[in-house]
Amino acid sequence: MGRLFAIEIIYRGIFQKTLATRLSRSVVLAAHQEGKLGISFGRYGDSPERNGIPAKNFAIVATDEQTLQEGMAKYEPKEVDITIALDDTLCKGVESWAWYGLQPVNRLLKPGGTLIVTSCEGPEAIIAMAHRKEAPYNLAIVKGTVSFSGLWVYKDDHTDVRILGAIAKLLPDLFSLKSVQKIIVDQWHDPVKSESAARSYERVRSVTVRTDQGNPETPYKFDLPKWHEMGEGVAIPSIPAGHAVADPVSNAEGGFRPDRNPTFKKFSTRTMRPVVNFDTCIKCTLCWLHCPDSCFDVTPEGLYDANMQACCGCGVCEAVCPVKECVTMVNETEFGDNQSQWEAWRHDKDRYQTWLAGKIKSRPERSHGFRYRGQYEEQVPAVLETARKA
Ligand code: SF4
Ligand code: SF4
Repeated sequence: MGRLFAIEIIYRGIFQKTLATRLSRSVVLAAHQEGKLGISFGRYGDSPERNGIPAKNFAIVATDEQTLQEGMAKYEPKEVDITIALDDTLCKGVESWAWYGLQPVNRLLKPGGTLIVTSCEGPEAIIAMAHRKEAPYNLAIVKGTVSFSGLWVYKDDHTDVRILGAIAKLLPDLFSLKSVQKIIVDQWHDPVKSESAARSYERVRSVTVRTDQGNPETPYKFDLPKWHEMGEGVAIPSIPAGHAVADPVSNAEGGFRPDRNPTFKKFSTRTMRPVVNFDTCIKCTLCWLHCPDSCFDVTPEGLYDANMQACCGCGVCEAVCPVKECVTMVNETEFGDNQSQWEAWRHDKDRYQTWLAGKIKSRPERSHGFRYRGQYEEQVPAVLETARKA
């Protein structure tokens, strides 16, 4: 029996789809340089994918055909050697479009496997976000601005090759740097990309994450129904429309919180979140009307509190708010919980303003697409410079 390798790539649907595809394909091509066989594919349940919703690609590689066939006989890998999280905020949890509940980013990692994360953050911040695991694992950070692009374009900021270089270092039995550099030049005819892979290979380091480190929350669990428990056909009960929940923000005081799906929270779609300045809000209702996910709870004073369990971080509320800096999108990495901002404001307004000013300093360096033609060409040199210094 030969050796089987499994690599999982977790990415933001649409925004990082091309990046994930290039990576999973390149893993197989680089391994093929060394006589191994492999296949890359996307998780079936994630298609059609949605903006920002966590999705997965896999690359399965084996030293011989029989081992590959055995590996491929499974619907998708049950454990992996490497998990790649293409956005650090995915470390808070992965809630797929094909809903499995919020799952830990490191769930499939073998004991001693490696989580590779693209991030400007250090290991402490990433470890704090990820759920605890029953066995130690390794964490490696490919330093740099998280790479996003839109549906039709590709932001060629070398994130792809920098991760490939890191894999060559962290899992040398899979492929060497030489093989990676060969397939980079074959595919993209770019010696600078090849150089970026080599630099990442030289620089990447990993730290061991202990079992007592990370988010202690118990991950969502469910039992799959047995075949004899399944109903005939598929019926998915909908959420009744037009209701307030039984325990709204403060119904007794005149607030209103719309009914929401009690289990599908959507917040793991978010890479940035809105913060609201309730002192400058003019109660125009625009954020409440335009939010595509009905995230705003109406407070007793007629203010609008973005519910952080439900917000997917699209940024529409910031775009429509007519008051300068009343709604500001901030990096999701800055937050450790989903508590109500309005509750904090109501409790201590001065303290809230200090908190708000601190958060607004962390406006996102990331965006979900480009706003004008040629924007990425302008951005990429600065991103590469940051990566070079990292
Ligand atoms: S970012 Fe704003 S508009 Fe978008 S889902 Fe969140 S609260 Fe709603
Ligand atoms: S859009 Fe801005 S000003 Fe209008 S209600 Fe929402 S937060 Fe207040």
